[in-house]
Amino acid sequence: MCGSFNQFAGDPDMSAPITQDVLTIPRKLPEGGRVNIVGLTRDQLREAMIAAGTPEKQAKMRVGQVWQWVYHWGVRDFAQMTNLAKDYRALLAEAFEIALPEIVSRQVSADGTRKYLLRIAGGHEVETVYIPEEGRGTLCVSSQVGCTLTCSFCHTGTQKLVRNLTPGEIVGQLMVARDDLEEWPVPGAPRDETRLVSNMVLMGMGEPLYNFEGVRDAMKVVMDNEGLSLSRRRITLSTSGVVPEIARTAEEIGCLLAVSFHATTDEIRNKLVPINRRWNIQALLEALREYPRLSNSERITFEYVMLDGVNDSDEDARRLVRLIRGIPAKINLIPFNEWPGAPYKRSSWERIEAFADIVHKAGYASPIRTPRGEDIMAACGQLKSATERGRKSRAEIAAEAAG
Ligand code: SAH
Ligand code: SF4
Repeated sequence: MCGSFNQFAGDPDMSAPITQDVLTIPRKLPEGGRVNIVGLTRDQLREAMIAAGTPEKQAKMRVGQVWQWVYHWGVRDFAQMTNLAKDYRALLAEAFEIALPEIVSRQVSADGTRKYLLRIAGGHEVETVYIPEEGRGTLCVSSQVGCTLTCSFCHTGTQKLVRNLTPGEIVGQLMVARDDLEEWPVPGAPRDETRLVSNMVLMGMGEPLYNFEGVRDAMKVVMDNEGLSLSRRRITLSTSGVVPEIARTAEEIGCLLAVSFHATTDEIRNKLVPINRRWNIQALLEALREYPRLSNSERITFEYVMLDGVNDSDEDARRLVRLIRGIPAKINLIPFNEWPGAPYKRSSWERIEAFADIVHKAGYASPIRTPRGEDIMAACGQLKSATERGRKSRAEIAAEAAG
């Protein structure tokens, strides 16, 4: 990738050649071919490397070395891992691969937002969006192909085909974006302090808490500070309200939390975010009250999509601040992003501002999220791969919105 990677030569820790006995150990090749390294946790990688013939006593160090090549330097070819003995590199190449989702298409918006359509195993497609901002850049990552939930204002919710993404496919989205942005460090070059992908939001396709283990393991890899090293405070997971997994998110991931709140009565929330029929507003708020303490994070982001005449009255704004009283919070108002066949309209700017004003006066930050990448259908809730196999009809969407 970036010339020769021999900067560790001479460092005893990093360049210790493996002893010949590695190669005499019978190696079990995994059934079904080579194991993809991307997305394995350190423990999983260690086990896989031992299974491939790495002596147990060396495994930890080898994991550290490979980890750094893959996740710090962005190397894809074992031959470039110059602090490993040649034979050992060959052994790794036989047992492992370093594989990422394939870019099917890349669209760049007039505002610089980039939307990637990625192909993953099984021929499925998911979308990832990169949003450059002043002094930072956010990658919006998908956690599932489609979504099993059917929020009536969300384009992804109209997509029938669903499977969980593997940790490798989640981590792979970040690595693909770093490839495209040419953001891997160049050996010897001074470190650039402002990272192009400085933040990550799990706000793409899918409900991350319905893929809990996949997301958790992926975030372990992404947060590891000898690799991609995004801190947990730069990762925001957005959930529609999978209440039983909220405490686990605090304990096992510890990232920032956003919640798709969107309504102030159960009646309206049942229609907009149908998971509310299972865990209602009160149950959700109880789980949220615990989150800042359990995760040692400051505040929760309440996402609130502004739908004309549905949830955007002054009364809604006042009810909202009453409901969340006592929870350290920021309220992110999202102007509804329209999509073909959507059963709602975006609230007017005056309405959104009036709503924001009430929330603000009650003491909460209430930023209005600027829609980004609308011209390429990359804005919140617009993601849906055009090549999906099943599609709901307008009538189905309307029926769900009404029901
Ligand atoms: N499934 C998760 C994360 C993905 S959606 C969740 O629901 O939280 C990311 C955010 O975009 C959510 O707050 C979601 O409610 C919002 N959203 C979905 N469709 C939208 C649309 N058409 N316009 C604006 N925001 C939308
Ligand atoms: Fe799924 Fe989130 Fe869309 Fe609801 S808003 S359908 S949970 S992706």
